[in-house]
Amino acid sequence: MAKLAINGGTPIRTTLFPAYNTIGEEEKQAVAKVLDSGNLSQYLGAWTDDFFGGPTVRAFENAWKEQLGCKHAISVNSNTSGLFAAMGAIGIQPGDEVIVSPYSMSASAIAPLVYGGIPIFADIDPVTFCMDPVSIEANITPRTKAILIVHIMGHPADMTRIMQLAKQHNLRVIEDCAQAPMGKYKNQYVGTFGDIGIFSLNYHKHIHTGEGGVMVTNDDALAFRCQMIRNHAENIVGPTETADLTNMIGYNYRMTEVEAAIGIEQLKKLPSLLKQRLENVTFFDEQLAQFPALKLQPKQPEGNVHCYYTYPIVFDKTIAGIERNAFVAALNAELPSAILRETAPLIGCGYVKPLYLAPIYQQKAAWAFKPELYPHEVSYAKGLCPVAESMHFEQLFSHEYMRPGMTKADMQDVIDAIAKIFENKDELR
Ligand SMILES: *Cc1c(COP(=O)(O)O)cnc(C)c1O
Repeated sequence: MAKLAINGGTPIRTTLFPAYNTIGEEEKQAVAKVLDSGNLSQYLGAWTDDFFGGPTVRAFENAWKEQLGCKHAISVNSNTSGLFAAMGAIGIQPGDEVIVSPYSMSASAIAPLVYGGIPIFADIDPVTFCMDPVSIEANITPRTKAILIVHIMGHPADMTRIMQLAKQHNLRVIEDCAQAPMGKYKNQYVGTFGDIGIFSLNYHKHIHTGEGGVMVTNDDALAFRCQMIRNHAENIVGPTETADLTNMIGYNYRMTEVEAAIGIEQLKKLPSLLKQRLENVTFFDEQLAQFPALKLQPKQPEGNVHCYYTYPIVFDKTIAGIERNAFVAALNAELPSAILRETAPLIGCGYVKPLYLAPIYQQKAAWAFKPELYPHEVSYAKGLCPVAESMHFEQLFSHEYMRPGMTKADMQDVIDAIAKIFENKDELR
């Protein structure tokens, strides 16, 4: 008789796990206040006081600024918009190279292409899954203009070495902090090391406003360029007598008063949500240590905060005696694979397919690749980033069972399911 659920046995658990829902009474009241005002967005795409948005948008930006201790916070309608605006603000032009990560959400690599820049993929570190500074350095050419780093899964990237490289080669640094709100590296918030940091407020993130994003910077000139790109720059450059018109074609990346009202309340909840998440991470760290085939990320040094957007585990198939994919499929069968807030499974093999393998890169399907704009070779061939590929296709899996709202008993079910699979692994061979 089979014991494992994947082979017809009884699963460890069939009832859904608690939904992750950060929205409550506070957000409802804040939104009601905005609705009562009748003013859902006060932006004007012209050089007036309303160029910077309405009162709630400004209050939200102030709150974010205070939280991170930075000079400027610029709300946008998504992290993706923020990444695009950042590329524009730092002056990316056709032929410029930007070093990006192959192991991130697609927007963090595609952003340079919007301005004709060429994404150059650096491989990741096998422990942090952030870009490896050794690979970044190996990819620097005379055409490199910027490094777009990602604090992936909430793990802070090696900012000391990245900032050293940037200084040495005169490069801009953009930090994609979508997965690391209030993450820290050496006691400093991520997003405040580089020229611009960008946070996401989409539905999947630690806190959210449905859709939304925030850019942070300490540079006055860059802040204004971001604000112009956010809101119809072409109307602003004249009245403000802006000298440098590079990339000063504006978009509409504006956040509404409604999202800003939600964002203010969400930001207040972030410290406690992160604390609960990290307490759950400690539970998993302790419990999973009993399984020698599961390699966990090491404890963070004092002063660092890893935000654990997802909880990554490197699966050692030699020790396990079974393949990762068989293990993950078995685990999914033992547990309900979705929670109410999400339709996506809570557990998956790897994270995302290394980005350069996507058709847009394989076919170089962007105007930026035209030989008259970029008369150089760039490879997106399979094998380009061996660590990212090995992690994705063979070794890594990640779960989200450490979300706030999970009780000890809920998490214990996950541990029991893993123990059950290892006890009965002969069924998977
Ligand atoms: C979610 C995410 C984005 C995109 O954020 P949006 O707000 O949905 O545009 C970009 N980069 C990373 C690393 C993300 O996780």
